[in-house]
Amino acid sequence: MISSVQDSRLAAIRDKVATNQRLSFDDGVALYERADLFTLGELANLVRERKNGQFTYYNVNTHLNPTNVCVYRCTFCAFRADLKSPKGYVMSDEQILARAAEADQRGATELHIVGGLHHQLPYEWYLNVVRLIHQHHPRLHLKAYTAVEWDWFERLTGRPTRELLAEFKEAGLGSLPGGGAEIFHPEVRDRICEHKADSDAWIRIHREAHQLGLRSNATMLYGHIEEPRHRVDHLIRLRELQDETGGFQTFIPLAFHPDHTGLAHLPRPSGVLDLKTMAISRLMLDNFPHIKAYWVMLGIKTAQLALSFGADDLDGTVVHEKIYHDAGSDSPQELSVVEIRRLIEEAGRIPVERDTLYHEVIREEHNWRTGRALHLVGTGR
Ligand code: SF4
Repeated sequence: MISSVQDSRLAAIRDKVATNQRLSFDDGVALYERADLFTLGELANLVRERKNGQFTYYNVNTHLNPTNVCVYRCTFCAFRADLKSPKGYVMSDEQILARAAEADQRGATELHIVGGLHHQLPYEWYLNVVRLIHQHHPRLHLKAYTAVEWDWFERLTGRPTRELLAEFKEAGLGSLPGGGAEIFHPEVRDRICEHKADSDAWIRIHREAHQLGLRSNATMLYGHIEEPRHRVDHLIRLRELQDETGGFQTFIPLAFHPDHTGLAHLPRPSGVLDLKTMAISRLMLDNFPHIKAYWVMLGIKTAQLALSFGADDLDGTVVHEKIYHDAGSDSPQELSVVEIRRLIEEAGRIPVERDTLYHEVIREEHNWRTGRALHLVGTGR
């Protein structure tokens, strides 16, 4: 109990959560530094059930990383390759279409498309990936390219990102993933990925996408060199944009994996930090409808526990994940629908398959269609 530590700030936070009031920056830092894990779980679960009841969402998706060749050298990244590295690859149109066909045939509703920023490939190549898949598999929702990639496209073309997003939307883009956010605060960002899009660019691009009617997700890479105040600052910047646009669907805290990165000397984030960050994210992001426990990074066991620490989404069946497995993730490449549903039910929740935009997916034999919107209990604060 908070009262057992006689901490008046934590008691005030408990009152705020109970009465649906917004938490401040200082509240967020105090939760990291002074709240015990069970208190965090209790408070985050209150908000989670207020917004989503007992429902826990998952989707059937496939990942596509069209190239791993990248001009940048983010210190936390084990996925990238140099232009002439034997590890580097660029998928052909045939390989890309084969991956999309495989996804379509197995009933996936979404392709999650992110990759490196190739030294030599033109803007049109990235546009063609989306156009080609959409032409051949229009049923697949294409969640494509992080804000860092959109910023790169602007540098390649000299055209504003708003115009590029509109062009991609016309070609079949469905929404934006939340990657590339890392940690917004320059004290950290300048040390781990100083060259790529800064926080202002990341926020601006998501604002533009929302204004064009594209929904997006948001992430935070934690458990490396950042401090609690940097994480809370990150969450508040996202909360402010969500107040403005309402275009975010899901927040995904991403646990850092150090293997094969420039930060390999750091330990992996602990289970306690994983669950604390999940809970504090749920508490600070009072205007985000969903918080995702991305099992690929957390591991299946921690992701299942996170369903009692604020998370209401387990992500998907995720076939062909490369980015975090290159960094040492020991989770499997794929979870079956049966296994995901079992994990959710064992945690005492009700599994619901969703599409990318949180409509319920209704399966009949080998076919599927979308049904009602799934913001079932309420999306607002
Ligand atoms: S995180 Fe992205 S931008 Fe950074 S090096 Fe890796 S692939 Fe490139």
